[in-house]
Amino acid sequence: LLLSYEPAKRLARLNIDLTTHLIGARMLFDILDRPAVETDQPGTPALNIEKGEIAFDDVHFGYREDEPVLRGLSFIAEAGKTTALVGPSGGGKSTIMSLIERFYEVDSGTIQIDGQDIRGVTYRSLREAVGFVSQDVFLFSGTIRENIATGRPGASDEDIMEAARAANAHNFIMGFNDGYDSRVGEHGAQLSGGQRQRIAIARAFLKNAPILLLDEATAALDSESEAEVQKALRLLEQNRTTIVIAHRLQTVVNADRICVIDSGRVVESGRHEELVAKRGRYFNFHQLQFSGQEERLSA
Ligand code: ADP
Ligand code: MG
Repeated sequence: LLLSYEPAKRLARLNIDLTTHLIGARMLFDILDRPAVETDQPGTPALNIEKGEIAFDDVHFGYREDEPVLRGLSFIAEAGKTTALVGPSGGGKSTIMSLIERFYEVDSGTIQIDGQDIRGVTYRSLREAVGFVSQDVFLFSGTIRENIATGRPGASDEDIMEAARAANAHNFIMGFNDGYDSRVGEHGAQLSGGQRQRIAIARAFLKNAPILLLDEATAALDSESEAEVQKALRLLEQNRTTIVIAHRLQTVVNADRICVIDSGRVVESGRHEELVAKRGRYFNFHQLQFSGQEERLSA
């Protein structure tokens, strides 16, 4: 049976209680070679977020022994600020995000949120504190309404609609025959990459978590979608600690701090202008990754 790790991660992102709501989920997790149930030790406290600062300190991690992915990674994502991760593919950026939600355990070093080691707080409180937005976020074959509602189970229709409006999703949703009751997928609403991302943004608005993890689209969205997505994201980022895997020049230019990740370490960090002036790793990477985007930026 060929199943990759990805579906499990996306299932986990649903943030629903798999053990009570989905018969068979346990079997699925067994098949996927992940812990079937992530149980807290009795008496484990909930994460207590005051500001939302995230600190990686000398983190080492590998999916397999003898294949280190993170090799002494340290950085601080300041509370309420936007930290952009850039660097070559395979450098460990997505892994950093998985570790923050504790889908995997670090081999050594610590990840702290507001001074609390994430291994010392409940899984539920940790995942409730984190919103995740990506273009290929997991959508299941229910209605659009149900898909947005996973952000906060039990949310009212008005709250769902308000979140969709904030995400610039309301108008395209209303363009489908059945509106919010349109089914997602083959025989329902066909969603473009930009629309999927806006569903994910609506979920995150509804969830209203203090920490936002954002995996920016690698492929260019159509320009209308792109503008709608960017507007919604700027709004969503406000007053949240945001870590974004950046693929767009505009994102890194606007970031409060950029961390260049290569071979599992932060090899350079600072603001865009500082790093360009330095003519080091960021500058070289920037030439490769973002050349041709200047025009769009000034437009
Ligand atoms: P980036 O996001 O910077 O492209 P990733 O964090 O996705 O990097 O990957 C870092 C390394 O870890 C790569 O060598 C990748 O092949 C490996 N990797 C990523 N996810 C898994 C996984 N679930 N199982 C095994 N190896 C993985
Ligand atoms: Mg990645």
